[in-house]
Amino acid sequence: MSGTEISDEARLNKKICMSCGATNAPKALKCRKCHSKQLRRKAREPRR
Ligand SMILES: [Zn+2]
Repeated sequence: MSGTEISDEARLNKKICMSCGATNAPKALKCRKCHSKQLRRKAREPRR
């Protein structure tokens, strides 16, 4: 059994602040910590 499927999907549904590195909700427009608008999706390429 592999329990990585759910966590992988959860990772893609989060945004990371490029300023402070905080994790934000996928719908967030600003960082909840430093209120920076520089959010990026945590979309790392899956390892093969
Ligand atoms: Zn931030």
